[in-house]
Amino acid sequence: MRRGAAESGREPDRLGDQRPASRAGGARVASQRRAGSAVTARLGVDIGGTSTRAVVVDESGVIGEAEATSGRGVVAALDVVLATAQAALESAGRPTTSSIGAGVPGVVDARAGIVRHAVNLEIDEWHLREQLEDRLGLPAAVDNDVNAAALGARRALQIEESLAYLNLGTGVAAGIVGVSGVLRGARGGAGEVGHLSVDPRGPRCGCGRRGCIEAYAGGRFVDGRALFRMPAASPERQRFGWAVASAVISLLLMVDVEHVVVGGGMARSRAALLETISNGVVALEADSTFIAGLDAHRRLQVIDPGIDVAAIGAALLSRESAR
Ligand SMILES: [Zn+2]
Repeated sequence: MRRGAAESGREPDRLGDQRPASRAGGARVASQRRAGSAVTARLGVDIGGTSTRAVVVDESGVIGEAEATSGRGVVAALDVVLATAQAALESAGRPTTSSIGAGVPGVVDARAGIVRHAVNLEIDEWHLREQLEDRLGLPAAVDNDVNAAALGARRALQIEESLAYLNLGTGVAAGIVGVSGVLRGARGGAGEVGHLSVDPRGPRCGCGRRGCIEAYAGGRFVDGRALFRMPAASPERQRFGWAVASAVISLLLMVDVEHVVVGGGMARSRAALLETISNGVVALEADSTFIAGLDAHRRLQVIDPGIDVAAIGAALLSRESAR
């Protein structure tokens, strides 16, 4: 299930590393504005089950940011979003802002701007786009946090080709971005690769099926910290790597994106995760020259967990592109 881009890639000590660069960016924007250039910034908010994080971005990158504990229920959650957005704007020196985007875990109807079944936020239905537009007077867009993270990863890695962002958090899901934008699918379900079954006799997944990739690789089932303390050749690491490699290969087969970028909570052990997935890909390639021909190793990477992909991507969402 699509949860956890938020809780995922966030490692406070790594985030701290980014802040000096952000401040430098902010100073540059201020001087540009004094020179009279029409710089506008965009707000992005990543509303996670634990924390709500807002960033202000412009062409130079992140120029302001703020974070707070997420509210529970529609009223409290919105209050936190608005307060965090204002704090991020303050930290960026109150630039002219053209839009706001929000990434939310759960089921999101991006076209209608409505969040449904955001269980971690104790929200059943949230008309978030309408509320953001009413309260902030800015065009607003809302999407799933994994779709937002895919846009953020594409920007952060300066990728121009298509990509899939495979989020390994509590659940396993992918956001897919083609050259014309996010691929959401007819009912918003594109990229739910975590519920592909790779073994009909495998362990039971939260969705009710057996052998879903998520049941081998989701944080609900696997303790990532313990896993990556085990040797690379341990059966547990091999099983996890096989499952994630199956997701990577499935994405390449189904949507043929140029890049698969892996992120989320499991990416905190970045090097170990890449090694584990790569070993899984090798195992799958051993059986099939067709799979080997996909060249998955060159197309695969694990993103730096310190990059705030979901919030950055939320800032890149636009109301028009959700239609
Ligand atoms: Zn499942």
